[in-house]
Amino acid sequence: MDGYPEWEFCQVQYNYVDRDFQAGEAGLAYAAEHELGVVIMEPLRGGALGKPPRAVREIFWKYPTPRLPAEWALRFALDRQEVALVLSGMGSPDQIRENAAVADAARPNALTRDERALIEEARTVFKAKQAVPCTGCGYCRPCPNGVEIPDVFGRYNAATMFDAAPGSDSWYKSAYAAAGKGGDACVRCGECLPKCPQGIAIPDKLAEAHARLMG
Ligand code: SF4
Ligand code: SF4
Repeated sequence: MDGYPEWEFCQVQYNYVDRDFQAGEAGLAYAAEHELGVVIMEPLRGGALGKPPRAVREIFWKYPTPRLPAEWALRFALDRQEVALVLSGMGSPDQIRENAAVADAARPNALTRDERALIEEARTVFKAKQAVPCTGCGYCRPCPNGVEIPDVFGRYNAATMFDAAPGSDSWYKSAYAAAGKGGDACVRCGECLPKCPQGIAIPDKLAEAHARLMG
């Protein structure tokens, strides 16, 4: 942006969990200062915020008006006045109607203090349920030894977030571990470590993930 001032818009990953990931809130503000239109991607974090763990849903149930988890996530993104457009993958006409209704109802800076507090609580619980703070960005790819790092962490996080029994992920066993792409294929060369913006101790966490996923 600084090197080429002619850009007219930018696309930023932003949701109530990833507020400081990549450009984040600081990036939204910076883009707006420079009069760029801001397009938000991943408002539902790849769908995860549409179907969050029960502990997160229970937080939203405290709100007097029933709202689906996806609505909370979309309202969060649409609350930023810098945002021109929120992109969200939709798989059915019902989802299109639901999302359009939320976009119609939401206004910038409309979230109340109570609503913001609930979202903050949901964020804390969501993050606490994650075993690894991996965002799936893929910057660590490719591993020279074939480990599918983001996928392994994704399956590990899914297991901990939804309290799956250790060793119950048969897809991990067949498609990753048995195929030489699992956490046990890491030889601790360290090549991926400086590439991870989250500062994850990747080899250690891969070993942990493999142990949990294999049971
Ligand atoms: S430390 Fe492990 S996961 Fe990272 S690049 Fe080396 S072998 Fe791959
Ligand atoms: S381990 Fe780090 S670099 Fe790799 S996908 Fe996860 S967050 Fe991104």
